[in-house]
Amino acid sequence: MPDLLLSLDDGFLLNNIKGDIGEITVHHLLSYLNKDCYFCINNLLLPLKNGGTTQIDHVILSPYGIFVIETKNYQGFIFGGEHANQWTQKTYRGTYQFYNPIKQNNHHIRTLANLLSLELRYFHSMILFIGECEIKTTLPNYVIDCCLNTDKFFEYIDSKKEFMINQELFKKILQTISNHRIKNTTENQNKHQEYVKHLQNLCPKCQSTMVKRIVKNTGKKFLGCSRFPYCRGTRQFIDKETQNQQELSNLIKYLL
Ligand SMILES: [Zn+2]
Repeated sequence: MPDLLLSLDDGFLLNNIKGDIGEITVHHLLSYLNKDCYFCINNLLLPLKNGGTTQIDHVILSPYGIFVIETKNYQGFIFGGEHANQWTQKTYRGTYQFYNPIKQNNHHIRTLANLLSLELRYFHSMILFIGECEIKTTLPNYVIDCCLNTDKFFEYIDSKKEFMINQELFKKILQTISNHRIKNTTENQNKHQEYVKHLQNLCPKCQSTMVKRIVKNTGKKFLGCSRFPYCRGTRQFIDKETQNQQELSNLIKYLL
């Protein structure tokens, strides 16, 4: 099917160095896949119904289903749970929380499934930790710290061998993605980052706006859901200075 495949623009446009290092490693991994069976689409930016956008790091189309890959370029030790909202990264510099990438990728998969009008069984989620890190908790086998062992990546791909996408459907999927994807221009990337920032300020439980609150006894500030007491979602209150530092460390890029 190479002719049709070449018509897809394989946008490899990244706006920061940290991203670049990670992406190149994954590109290297993907280059070992059999090209007759696996077709990779990178940095897929898709529109959401609410006007926002979602960015999928890598999609691998194959007769055995659609692999949807979220990459995390983190260092240190990673602690998480399949159903937890927040996971933890521990480095010599400190401890950081980040949104559960399994949930994040499920959101990507649902977006893609809606776009393609396909059931979820066609999709295989993969979370790749590509930095120098080690997962320290038990997680599903599709969460892979591949800097330690790249075999785990290929083993997972090879474990999915149930034939489910014929040539006709394959072409239809490619055509639909090609018709709907947003071009990887700097302007569109910036718009996407703005949308991600907007999401970060909403309630993690119900997506309502957050208000600043103060713990009576300690005077500590936090952000609470405006629907309290009906919703008890909270966020850490971050002052401007800390926020700037966090933006520098690129946490935002990895949220969506
Ligand atoms: Zn809420």
